Amino acid sequence: MATVAASVLVLNAGYEPLHRVTVRHAIKMLHREVAVVEESRAGLTFGPYPFPTVLRLIRYVAMKWRYATGGAPLCTKDGVKRRDKVCAYCGGPAETVDHVLPKSRGGASTWTNLVAACSPCNHAKANRTPDEAGMRLQVQPYVPAYAA
Ligand SMILES: [Zn+2]
Repeated sequence: MATVAASVLVLNAGYEPLHRVTVRHAIKMLHREVAVVEESRAGLTFGPYPFPTVLRLIRYVAMKWRYATGGAPLCTKDGVKRRDKVCAYCGGPAETVDHVLPKSRGGASTWTNLVAACSPCNHAKANRTPDEAGMRLQVQPYVPAYAA
């Protein structure tokens, strides 16, 4: 059975590879203008968009951050809330931080597994993945970039 060469590489604003998403998800990111197409498949389109193979996130906020050390910035709950600003599931005010893959199931407390969330979404999702909970991440968690 043919697959729709289904994955799109997502780069963060600093061009570091983050992860892969489905084409459908990639198109949603384009539609919401959180990412731009870096590379596309020649001659193919997906609705109004070029058929993406590589996306890059647009994250102006993250670019303001400056860290003294050369390594990845330490992941903290406050940092995740600063990065995301709003609940990753509903876009409302975020009071808490959610493990996308629940901690109890091996999810790490890392930039790419934590998102800001409001209490109702956090409770609704509970000990499940977003897919299991039927909840959609509206943002892709990423490691914040350093200031240029
Ligand atoms: Zn929410």
